[in-house]
Amino acid sequence: MKPYSDFRSDTVTRPTEEMLQAMLKAEVGDDVLGDDPTVKKLEELAASIIGKEAALFVPSGTMGNSIAVKMWTRELEEVIVEEKSHIYNMESTHMTFISRVTPRPLPSRRGAIAPELVRKHIRMPSVHTPRTSLICLENTHNNWGGAVVPLENFLAIRKIADEFGIKVHLDGARIFNASLASDVPVKEYARCCDSVMFCLSKGLSSPVGSLLVADRETIEYARRIRKALGGGMRQAGLLAACGIISLTRMVDRLREDHERARRLAQAIYDLPGITLNPEEVETNIIIFYFNHPTMTIPELVSRLKEKGILCLPVFGGVRLVTHKDVDDEDVERAIKAFREILAR
Ligand SMILES: *Cc1c(COP(=O)(O)O)cnc(C)c1O
Repeated sequence: MKPYSDFRSDTVTRPTEEMLQAMLKAEVGDDVLGDDPTVKKLEELAASIIGKEAALFVPSGTMGNSIAVKMWTRELEEVIVEEKSHIYNMESTHMTFISRVTPRPLPSRRGAIAPELVRKHIRMPSVHTPRTSLICLENTHNNWGGAVVPLENFLAIRKIADEFGIKVHLDGARIFNASLASDVPVKEYARCCDSVMFCLSKGLSSPVGSLLVADRETIEYARRIRKALGGGMRQAGLLAACGIISLTRMVDRLREDHERARRLAQAIYDLPGITLNPEEVETNIIIFYFNHPTMTIPELVSRLKEKGILCLPVFGGVRLVTHKDVDDEDVERAIKAFREILAR
């Protein structure tokens, strides 16, 4: 048995054999000079899947989101974000650091901000106040345990954004998970947004990389911002070759992750100390709250580690993520470990 079953994140996934072969055979060039054919192919594929004109290959999701905020805003403006969103909480404040705009966090129901709440917080520019220029959505919603934000919410927020001439950016790090779980095509979510970022390096198992997708003119501007941020990569076709495999071969497999997460949640939700509604585990992320009479969260995490199960503590609880590199055996191992540690 492997030393650890790693449920910390879907970012721990290793490239597949097919990806390694594709890297060996990839035709490459200097992408900063615009002549890497494999990067171009990946960008065209991404744009066509999302249903927009153009795409830009970036080293990380954080850089994709940073560029998106920068390209849609100017100083003295404000950006509406969901209060538990990744872009607001987990990207080292690039909104203020790079774009010099203020984030305006709003509460939500499992990642879906009530459209009327969005409307209420849109600000007109005045000598006292910033102009709201961008709304950021996230789907699936990481900190809401991989929740799928419904298409109706996207449509309603798009309508309000149009009324006020505001752009909408989607942090779609796991948009394919959202699409599979909701049976809504990725393009339908994307149609409600001016730009979409998605990650290749999560459940899609590429070693590195994300894509930012939008109209052609904006992506050309984004390319300049990427260079300024140090994200121009030379023979990036080696990485893009993996990304093409991610998009053509790895998407449907995400369903297995969803099934495993559901099974794991069903098996542990009623153990002592755990608060979790297994019905709310819609995709590949489980977040449960933990309040036990004798055991703290760090103790639980370290006892799980002794039994070969890696997971991450989060505020008030624990996060477990399923992905390509945890199989049924790993799930059974985790269930057994939880039951032994939290035996009644
Ligand atoms: C992982 C993730 C990102 C980007 O992460 P990187 O590690 O910078 O690639 C952005 N948004 C969400 C919701 C994520 O889960």
